[in-house]
Amino acid sequence: MDMIPLGIPVPRDLSAGRPDVGGLVDRFGRVATDLRVSVTDRCNLRCTYCMPAEGLDWMPEDELLSTAEMSRLIGIAVAHLGIEEIRFTGGEPLLFHGLEELIGGAAELLPRPQISLTTNAIGLERRAKALAAAGLDRVNISLDTVDRATFASMTRRDRLPAVLAGIDACHAAGIGPIKVNAVLMRGVNDGGACDLLRYCIGHDIELRFIEQMPIDSDNAWAAQEMMTAEEILAALRSEFTLRPASEPRGSAPAELWTVDDSRHRVGVIASVTRPFCGDCDRVRLTADGSVRSCLFGAEEFDLRGLLRSADPEDAVDLAIAQRWREALWRKQPGHGINDPGFLHPTRPMSAIGG
Ligand code: SAM
Ligand code: SF4
Repeated sequence: MDMIPLGIPVPRDLSAGRPDVGGLVDRFGRVATDLRVSVTDRCNLRCTYCMPAEGLDWMPEDELLSTAEMSRLIGIAVAHLGIEEIRFTGGEPLLFHGLEELIGGAAELLPRPQISLTTNAIGLERRAKALAAAGLDRVNISLDTVDRATFASMTRRDRLPAVLAGIDACHAAGIGPIKVNAVLMRGVNDGGACDLLRYCIGHDIELRFIEQMPIDSDNAWAAQEMMTAEEILAALRSEFTLRPASEPRGSAPAELWTVDDSRHRVGVIASVTRPFCGDCDRVRLTADGSVRSCLFGAEEFDLRGLLRSADPEDAVDLAIAQRWREALWRKQPGHGINDPGFLHPTRPMSAIGG
C-alpha cells in the first residue's frame, strides 16, 4: 500500500464510494479482520495510565449488552463480515461472568475464529482451565513490573501475587502462547524493565512494551514524559543484547528483537513514535454495543438499537452487518496523536477496550 510518512496510508479514489463487498473495507484499502470485544468497562485495578483512582462513571446496566447479544454480534461479524480473530478485552474481561459462554459460542462459529483474551490475570488462577476448555487459544497478560511495591503503586492495588498465579495457571491449562504487555513509565517502573524481561524469559513468555498512549482518564499524558520505543530499547540494552528479529511483521503492531542471540524475543509497540495505522486490521465493539473503527476515533456507530428492535431476526442481522460495514468505510487514516489538533477520545481506554 502507498504510504505517506509515519505509517499513514494514502486514500483510494474517494469519489467511487464503497464497493459492494461483504468484508470490512475502508477508503484506504485496509480490511478489518480482527475484532476486539470489550465485554465490560469495570476493572479491579486502577492503573494510573488507564483509570482514575475513583470517580469514573460505569456504563448504565440497561445499556450493557447481554451475553446472548454479544454472541449474536460476534456471529454476524464472523458469518457476514469476514472477521477471523476475536479478542476479548475490557475493562477487565474476567469480571464478566459470561466470558466462558461467549468463548464457547465463538469457538463453534464457522470458519472458527482465533480466540484470545487481554487480561490483568486476576482471577485467572481459578478460571484458566475452564477458559481453555471453552476454546480460548491465546492470552495477553498486562504486567508492568515484577516488583510488588511498584505494582501496587502503579495499579493502586497490591495484587501482584494474584497476577503471577494467573500466569502459572495459564501455563498449566495449556493456553499459549502467553504474551505479556507492559507500559513503562519514566521514574516509576522503567528501572525494572530488565527484571521483567528476565521473568518473562524464565517463564517462556514473549514480553512486549507498549508506548504509553494519551488515553488515560486522568488526562495526564504528556508527549515529553512518555518513554519512547528508543528509550525502552536503550533501557533493555543496558543488560541484554538485542538484534532485530527476522520474522516479517505483517499487521502485528510489535517490532520484535532477539534477546542475547537466544530463541527468546522481546517486542516494542511504538504506537506513538512509529504508528502502524497503515497496516491496521482492527475493529472494536464496546460493551454497550457500539462499533469503533479506531481506538482514538471520534465516531461510534450504535448497533444496540438495531439489535433490540422488534423486526425479524434475519433482517436485523443484515441491517447490523451493513451498518458495521459503513462504520469501517469511514475509518480515518490514522490516530492523529501527533497532530496539533488531536483530541482525546470521549471514552476512557477501559470503556473502549485496549
Ligand atoms: N484489563 C485488561 C488488561 O489490563 O489487560 C484489558 C483492558 S486494558 C485497557 C488493555 C491494555 O491496554 C493493557 O495491556 C494496558 O496496559 C493497555 N493500556 C491501558 N492504558 C494504556 C495507555 N494509556 N497507553 C498504552 N497502553 C494502555
Ligand atoms: Fe484495568 Fe486493564 Fe485499565 Fe489496568 S489497564 S486499569 S487492568 S482496564
